[in-house]
This record gives sequence, structure tokens and C-alpha cells, in this order.
Amino acid sequence: MKFNIAVIPGDGIGPEIVKEAKKVLDAVAKKYDHVFDYTEVLMGGASIDVHGIPLTDEAIEVCKKSDAVLMGSIGGNTSTSPWYRLSPDKRPEAGLLKLRKSLNLFANLRPAVLYDELKGACPLKEEIIGDGFDMMIMRELTGGLYFGERSTKEENGVMTAHDSLTYNENEIRRIAKRGFDIAMKRSKKVTSVDKANVLDSSRLWRKVVEEVAKDYPEVTYEHMLVDNCAMQLVKNPGQFDVILTENMFGDILSDEASMVTGSIGMLASASLNDTKFGLYEPSHGSAPDIAGQGIANPLATILSAAMMLRYSFDLDKEADDIENAVKTVLKAGYRTGDIMQDGKTSVGTVEMGDILVKTILGE
Ligand code: NAD
Repeated sequence: MKFNIAVIPGDGIGPEIVKEAKKVLDAVAKKYDHVFDYTEVLMGGASIDVHGIPLTDEAIEVCKKSDAVLMGSIGGNTSTSPWYRLSPDKRPEAGLLKLRKSLNLFANLRPAVLYDELKGACPLKEEIIGDGFDMMIMRELTGGLYFGERSTKEENGVMTAHDSLTYNENEIRRIAKRGFDIAMKRSKKVTSVDKANVLDSSRLWRKVVEEVAKDYPEVTYEHMLVDNCAMQLVKNPGQFDVILTENMFGDILSDEASMVTGSIGMLASASLNDTKFGLYEPSHGSAPDIAGQGIANPLATILSAAMMLRYSFDLDKEADDIENAVKTVLKAGYRTGDIMQDGKTSVGTVEMGDILVKTILGE
């Protein structure tokens, strides 16, 4: 099969890690007789340097015409880079926000997986980690508190700030369906997280999730209050499979969940719209402190590419291949600096990509 992929290398370590992800995708293409056609797109600082703005309309068009977007990361050192002397709407991050909005990417998926081989990096006690955990946070990305009306005013010498949290049932339904669809590809369990004991928006959330759940009889689901969920994530993370939640709760819980895996260089993510289309990128930033040194961990980007195969291209076997190769390589003891442990073999960015390619092709 043939797929068109818009590729945004971005800034900092972005080009280095994206190169490795493409290498791994090419190995999969070779093994399964697919064609991945890449079109490179400038965004962030790289686009500012060439076009004076972080994302051009032409770049958005290339992304819209492709089957999916694979991205490294954007941005520079926020204290020293000249990009940060520009007004906020011209800075690198504005490009990413514009792209997400233009592509209507309302569903943000962040897997939090604790690999057996990296258990030592997890800040939780061994008895809590148990057999490890492998969960997916499904966060609504374009509604709720972050997109509501806001204002700050002063009256009689007293400052008052106001933010509003609004969801309509359609916005909830589309993200809930996404959550249950993903659960069908995993172990068929959804935990919907809200604050229905206090918030009207959460009560509507709960009602709509219950309606959607009726279409997925194979999926077991439960509701959990967000404060309890925050506690359960560090008390018993193994109980979760898919966590489905609104924008702000998802923002906080996904950071909490990802941090208990202990390794920022391993965390993939996907942002999807209501078709198969998605933007796939590592959860970490552009790491300007280590850019150009050949030491960045490319695995989060490579695992994001695996998500692209699974969620945008329906190539589950191929995605499994990449994920299994990552496990095999970690088991064999290869580590980039960020996940290095005593007695393991230290490798650089390119070497990690090469070893994965060999593992996938069985060489
Ligand atoms: P960061 O994630 O780039 O780096 C935090 C720390 O983790 C650094 O020490 C870095 O070296 C390390 N690190 C990150 N990824 C790594 C990898 N793959 N391998 C090894 N080590 C890794 O966060 P930051 O320093 O706060 O931000 C740097 C820039 O990235 C900023 O301009 C920020 O705005 C941007 N940023 C972009 C995105 C994105 O593109 N989606 C996300 C977050 C931050």
C-alpha cells in the first residue's frame, strides 16, 4: 500500500530523531512491500528562518493533502534564541497551535508504557509497579477551559479573572467514540474521568459517554472522579487501560502518567481528527541543550511513527513490529544516554536507529 506522509523535522534534535523514524518506516516498507512517500514541511524556528513566520499556508496545505503528519519537535532555547524576541504569535510554538487548529486535531493520545527493561527508571515502588503498566490517555484537545471565554477586570480596586468551561454534546461524543474505538484495539477497558459531583460539563460528559458506551458492548467502562484518578495513577497504575477525559484534566493526568514511566525520551503521542488523519510526535521538546550531538533518544519519535501505522493507516502488524523491535533492543541492553543504566551498552541516535532496522528486518 502507498501512503503520503508530511514530515516536519522541526528544530533542535527534531531533524536527528525524525531521520531515524523515517529509517525505521523504510525498513517496515521494505519488509511488508509498502510505499511511504515523504514530503518535508518547515515549521517552528526552521520556518521562521526561511519565511519569517512559524507556519505558512502552503505548509498547512501539504499536511492537509497527506495521509498523516510525522513531526520531530519545534522550538529553541527560550532564553537565548532570537525566535523568542518575536511577538508570541510569531514564535515557533504558534506554528504548532495553528497546525493543530487548522487540522481540527481534537483527540490527543498519549500512551504511558513502563517497559520491563526500564523499571529501574520508574519513581514508584516495586510493589506498586507490579507487572508494569501500559495505558493510553485520551485527552480532548480543542474544547473546554482552554478554549472558553476569559477575561480579567478590575472593579472597585479588586481584580477578578474569569475563565469558562464549555462542552457541547457533539464535542463529547466524538472524543468518547475515539476513546472506545481505541479501547477496541487494546484490552477493551475505558475509564472515563470527570468531576461530575461538581461540574455541569462533567455531568453532560458522563451522560454522553454512557450513550456512546451502548455501541461498544464488548468494552467495559467505569467513571472515575479526577481527584481519585490522580491518586490511583500513583497508587495502582496497572488498573488502567484507556483513560478518556476532557482537556484540562487530560493535560494534568497525561503529564502525571507519563512521568511515572520515568523516561521522557520514550513517550510517543498522536493527535487525531474525526477521520483517520493524525499528527504524530514525541511528547518531549526539541532539547536544544543536546541538539547536534548525536545523543538524542529517537525512540519516542519511532514509537509515534508506530502509532501512525496503527491509527492512521490501520497497519497493526507493522506497528506491532516496531514496538516489539523497541522491546527487543532494550532487552538486548542498548541505551541512549537519557535511559542509560549500569552494565548496558551506550549508543547514539543513529546507532539506535540502525539496530532497530536490523531487528525489524531480522538481519
Ligand atoms: P525538552 O523536552 O526539549 O527537554 C527537557 C530535557 O529532556 C532536556 O534536558 C533534554 O535534553 C531532555 N530530552 C528531551 N528529549 C530528549 C530525547 N529525545 N533524548 C534525550 N534527552 C531528551 O523541554 P524544554 O527544554 O523545556 O524545551 C525545549 C524547547 O522545546 C522549547 O523551545 C519548548 O518550547 C519546545 N517544546 C516543543 C514541544 C513540541 O514540539 N511539541 C514540546 C515541548 C517543548
